[in-house]
Amino acid sequence: MLSVVKKGKAWYQRHINDPYVKEAQAKGYRSRAVFKLLEMNDEHHFFKKGHWVVDLGAAPGGWSEVALQQVGTDGGVVAIDLLPMEPIQGVTCLQADFASSEGQDLLLSVLDGRVLDGVISDMAPNLSGIAVADQLRSIGLAQAALEFAKTHLQPEGYFVVKLFQGQGFDQFVKAVRLCFKKVVISKPKASRNNSREVYLFARSFRAIIE
Ligand code: SAM
Repeated sequence: MLSVVKKGKAWYQRHINDPYVKEAQAKGYRSRAVFKLLEMNDEHHFFKKGHWVVDLGAAPGGWSEVALQQVGTDGGVVAIDLLPMEPIQGVTCLQADFASSEGQDLLLSVLDGRVLDGVISDMAPNLSGIAVADQLRSIGLAQAALEFAKTHLQPEGYFVVKLFQGQGFDQFVKAVRLCFKKVVISKPKASRNNSREVYLFARSFRAIIE
């Protein structure tokens, strides 16, 4: 209720009338964000049984639930968020700032040298209301996610990351194109039209930069 008070009445009205919120509730998903990931997976077919995936900015856990359904019990999902998350059976949930050394150390110890098939990031900073600062923070999170993906993905691995269009966007996309052979930017239907949010899907990590 506190977060509703913080976000305001207009946000609450929009939220309860949102068809994706209703569908998520009807299907028992933790967030409407699942429909963005499902749409991207329908288009690019990246999740496979047995895959190991790290979910960055995972709370409340919608993407992790979907990832686990897709990779099955032969694979695994490791989720990290600043916020606490209700446990998901089969998902290793970590609470830490992903960009901090504590967060990185936690992930390294859980992964224990495992090479990943996918890194998915829906991270978004808490908005300060200062547009330039918020944009730089969101690009900073995406850059941290990219560095993590570059270090841990297997050569055919995939990287999905939320981005906000604005300062630093073009340079970031350019940097991803240098590292991956396939890069596609999309606006899933469940992403609100009035948001600058888009998603970048990249696959086939160029382990050796050509
Ligand atoms: N994909 C999630 C789902 O389906 O339930 C929703 C993710 S929500 C849009 C964005 C999340 O990013 C928030 O829970 C926020 O706490 C997290 N986040 C932002 N900065 C972070 C950071 N530095 N480290 C870890 N999580 C972060």
